Amino acid sequence: MPLTRDTPLIELPGVGPQRAKRLEKLGLRTLGDTLDHLPQRYEDRRESHALRDAPEGQPCCVTAMIAETPRVSYIRRGLSLVKVKAADGADLVTITFFNQDYIREVLRRGDSYVFYGTVERQGNQLFMTNPAFEREGAGRYTGVILPVYPLTAGISNNLMAGLTRRAVDGCLDGLPEALPAQVRKDHRLCQTQFARKNIHWPASFEELAMARRRLVFEELFVLTCGLAQLKGRRDQSAGRVLAGNVEEFAALLPFAPTGAQRRAMDGIAADLRSGRAMNRLVQGDVGSGKTAVAAFGAWTAAKSGVQCALMAPTELLAEQHARTMEALLGPAGVRTALLTGSVKGKERKALLAALAAGEIDLLVGTHALFSQGVEYRDLGMVIADEQHRFGVAQRSALAEKGQGTPPHVLVMSATPIPRTLALIIYGDLDVSIMDELPPGRTPVSTRLVGEDKRQRMYGYVRKQVGEGRQVYIVCPAVEENGGGGWEEAPGMDLKAVTAYARELRERVFPDLRVGLVHGRLKPKEKEDVMAAFHRGEVDVLVSTTVIEVGVDVPNASLMIIENAERFGLSQLHQLRGRVGRGKHQSWCILMTSSRSEAARERLRALCATNDGFQIAEEDLRLRGPGDFFGKRQHGLPQLKVADFAADMELLKEAQAAAAELVAADPELKKPAHRLLKKRVRQLFDENAELFH
Ligand code: ADP
Ligand code: MG
Repeated sequence: MPLTRDTPLIELPGVGPQRAKRLEKLGLRTLGDTLDHLPQRYEDRRESHALRDAPEGQPCCVTAMIAETPRVSYIRRGLSLVKVKAADGADLVTITFFNQDYIREVLRRGDSYVFYGTVERQGNQLFMTNPAFEREGAGRYTGVILPVYPLTAGISNNLMAGLTRRAVDGCLDGLPEALPAQVRKDHRLCQTQFARKNIHWPASFEELAMARRRLVFEELFVLTCGLAQLKGRRDQSAGRVLAGNVEEFAALLPFAPTGAQRRAMDGIAADLRSGRAMNRLVQGDVGSGKTAVAAFGAWTAAKSGVQCALMAPTELLAEQHARTMEALLGPAGVRTALLTGSVKGKERKALLAALAAGEIDLLVGTHALFSQGVEYRDLGMVIADEQHRFGVAQRSALAEKGQGTPPHVLVMSATPIPRTLALIIYGDLDVSIMDELPPGRTPVSTRLVGEDKRQRMYGYVRKQVGEGRQVYIVCPAVEENGGGGWEEAPGMDLKAVTAYARELRERVFPDLRVGLVHGRLKPKEKEDVMAAFHRGEVDVLVSTTVIEVGVDVPNASLMIIENAERFGLSQLHQLRGRVGRGKHQSWCILMTSSRSEAARERLRALCATNDGFQIAEEDLRLRGPGDFFGKRQHGLPQLKVADFAADMELLKEAQAAAAELVAADPELKKPAHRLLKKRVRQLFDENAELFH
């Protein structure tokens, strides 16, 4: 029986029921499956060196003849050595294997083998420890670039490599090609067979690079085709026509909108007039004035007689938004209400009744806005603020709350999100970029300060307060209230934060008004402290990251961040955005006692720039997409080959190609697109929770 991609692995020599089970754990059942099991790295075992020329401190192949019968010695329980001498010409090498007694039976005196390992020198003696080896001339695992696979207990790399070798040699014929020929030609991509062969068993690193490039492109292309289709369908879905005049709205604002705000509002106004459902992302750095833009959306909805829901990531922020909206839009007759998890009992019942009766125009809240039992009379618009994980799935869930016609959706982005990720998470949205800060801001200046300067830092706090300013001191704390856009940085427990606040209040600043706010306070208590800080009745606010997103106190001019090394760069940038919101020069002091040069280097990047996008890219590069968003679901599908940070250029290329292809064949109906269509459907089915 010739091997095919469907041959079960258990039918192959060397794979019994035990191993078959273990392979299954890796998701591998058939020979074809192994083609998808990609190496994590490669060992260059092509060249064989003479012992005396072996490169220093780096593994290589040497060919040598076994010069004596191997000897085993038992050092102690659980530790045995096999030692043997091997010769190449005039040179001898002593080879030691730990706990591999069977090798005594394998290596035959007088036979030549290729050993792969590091040759060490001591005086003029040569040594190797635990090298891989095979008989000279076998050429299976030496003389090649060897793929090194992710493994599981009981499955050796040689076994895995043997399987992919068979798959690559025996069953690549007729491997279906998902990329249309034209796309391959336009983007100089090799064929699928070539790619599969060379990602496993490349003859050279150039071929490996070609193979990898194609597979990365393919993966990203399938994904972006799916997103382009999603966007295409969205663009066609009908939306209510809502009329809002930007000039008329601007008259309600206590300031003249910036050019960027105006452009964003124009974009929104055009979407709302178009008769199609709006799906727009407004992306802007902290303090760029997104709230006013959101208010424009809410105002337009109310004026057109439909309801608007404004969702914030935390209760604190929802409360602040409710106040701002009430102040801004109340005079224009917009009826605003606040719904959070802590609105309960009678109050909640009354609110829900008013909502269902259409007596509320704008409902501000947390995700409670879309919980069970919240019925709108006529929900026409949904605005999500500072929700950078507000991905495709969440937006779809919202769309279902609309009556018949899907509501317009406006996402105010959790600021700097790397472009790469935005393409994926928001790939189906139109985007407005707010790249301009309101006038009169001075950039926050950021310093890295060590523990030894703590007293000076306290002196600085006192000085700022003396000048009438207010100060934030942020501690990384573990919190249950994970409603924020970010994973909480691990750090002190709340007891420690409370103790620190007391220490500051009683010993360090007995003459100042020190407040404390954290996620486990009752909402009312939190609100009271924040309101007091807002009114200038608290000089120093000790807090956990609950203050992170969106809180607006223009008089605050100094932020101290304790244990700064425990936060991600983007999160620090968000935090720092709480200061520098008024006319005063503002500072952010990153306290750290970390001696790690890498950690300090990371923090210095933050001192060097105020550009949130640049910081986000850096953060992504350093930590990868998972960590960028924290451990929770980040709204991205798992990729097999591509790397969101490293393959950004290729992502852009794939996205452009996908947009073009989907524009020409929206439903991928052409025969040449059949397999592509299947792949897209597969990917979206596998990630059903991400894409609807
Ligand atoms: P973010 O984009 O971070 O949500 P906000 O909407 O909270 O920013 O705005 C930050 C601060 O800037 C607020 O105090 C807001 O009143 C003020 N602001 C917004 N737009 C302007 C403007 N065009 N001119 C002056 N101040 C503005
Ligand atoms: Mg905001």
